[in-house]
Amino acid sequence: MDNITASEIAGLGVGTLLLCATFAAPKVDALIAASQRSSLRMCKKCGDLRMIACSKCRGVGLIREGATFGLTFVDDLYESFGAENSKARSIACPSCQAKGHFCCPDCSKSSLV
Ligand SMILES: [Zn+2]
Ligand SMILES: [Zn+2]
Repeated sequence: MDNITASEIAGLGVGTLLLCATFAAPKVDALIAASQRSSLRMCKKCGDLRMIACSKCRGVGLIREGATFGLTFVDDLYESFGAENSKARSIACPSCQAKGHFCCPDCSKSSLV
């Protein structure tokens, strides 16, 4: 009985650990990337690309009119299946003026100096 309980607890522990690692991985990745960039004297924000992808249109420059937050996944799913959604129209992204990216504020600052 004790052995079964112990292995069960061990299994649970490993499972939790793996789960934590899965969730923590992107954060650790970003952290490492940022420290690598700073050690290479690259811009932390854009990695010397001098531009940042627009988060609103995901770098496309167009957003789908009528698409509400939370339904974008369904939209993507439809898109991946090649289904035409006549209700959704693409409009120029107002956040980035349809450019799909912004000038990096950090880089534009340093270039001005
Ligand atoms: Zn945009
Ligand atoms: Zn930058």
